[in-house]
Amino acid sequence: NYILAIESSCDDTGAAIIDGNKIISNVVASQKIHEIYGGVVPELASRAHQQNIVPVVDQALKQANINKEELKAIAYTRGPGLMGSLLVGGSFAKSFSQSLDIPLIEVNHMQAHILANFIEDANDEKPTFPFLCLTVSGGHTQIVKINNYFEMEILGETIDDAAGEAFDKAGKILNLPYPAGPIIDKKSKIGNPTKFKFAKPKIEGLNFSFSGFKTSILYFIQKEVKANPNFIEENIDDLCASIQHSIVNILMEKLKKASDETGIKQIAIAGGVSANSEIRQRLKDGETEFGWKTFIPKFAYTTDNAAMIAMVGSLKFDQELFTENTAKSVAKYHI
Ligand code: ATP
Ligand code: FE
Repeated sequence: NYILAIESSCDDTGAAIIDGNKIISNVVASQKIHEIYGGVVPELASRAHQQNIVPVVDQALKQANINKEELKAIAYTRGPGLMGSLLVGGSFAKSFSQSLDIPLIEVNHMQAHILANFIEDANDEKPTFPFLCLTVSGGHTQIVKINNYFEMEILGETIDDAAGEAFDKAGKILNLPYPAGPIIDKKSKIGNPTKFKFAKPKIEGLNFSFSGFKTSILYFIQKEVKANPNFIEENIDDLCASIQHSIVNILMEKLKKASDETGIKQIAIAGGVSANSEIRQRLKDGETEFGWKTFIPKFAYTTDNAAMIAMVGSLKFDQELFTENTAKSVAKYHI
């Protein structure tokens, strides 16, 4: 059963085709335009989606070597995300499903980040229920208990900035281009992770907070640059490594707490920040340190992609969980 999936929640236009849990094609057009603004500009994102959506879907079909008449359903990201971006993918998916007279399937983007772990080639092994997932992306930081494919509980989440935002905003302070996460990751490999120490957020339970952390970096850098205008350039690798190490420590501490409190030792990771090499390594270390069994999806399925939307589409198709053509896109959409 070939299912086409459309992803357009933020600044990447994606289309993928799945058969069961096997990805046949997965195409992403990333929008370069936002780099010069140091962040995603919603209006520009929406326009770029309009430009990209038809060619991206076309390419997904071509790469899969199938005709649109062979599709059994269309899955799309209903939310959460930027309204103008969601509307482009949503409108396209609705019209396309109507013209082909096949079912429409709505997908929650955050559920999809998690369920990407079930794509055939995402992992060697698949998690069994229940498992925990640390979802870390540009807009979210959550510890989720997954009871079943469509029954998820948020055990903890950020009360302000997301982990990805912490990376990107720290990068901005260091004059790095947007998105800074991957650049910080790269520079960290040759830097000293314990050279600089930043204030750890004091927050109880399983929630996160990153805004105070970002401010502590800002004040520290301002102070140092006053004394030495070349401070950033001279210490960039150590700064990156120290910032990354602090963020990963914060994430790991809460994840360990969640595992201890629930007794669940199957731990998955999802979202764009899960592409980070230190977090992947630390999670893996948890296998020997804490007796965890970990699930770390391959890179292409961590940052925004349509393959993960297709995976959910396929699971919903099997249960005939279809969506009315009148469904409205939702900017805030809880899992
Ligand atoms: P959401 O899924 O919450 O709506 P989003 O879709 O914009 O947000 P993703 O595409 O999942 O977010 O992730 C993008 C984020 O991941 C950015 O903040 C980026 O800096 C970060 N990121 C990507 N690669 C890495 C990396 N190697 N290390 C750290 N952060 C990274
Ligand atoms: Fe995302």
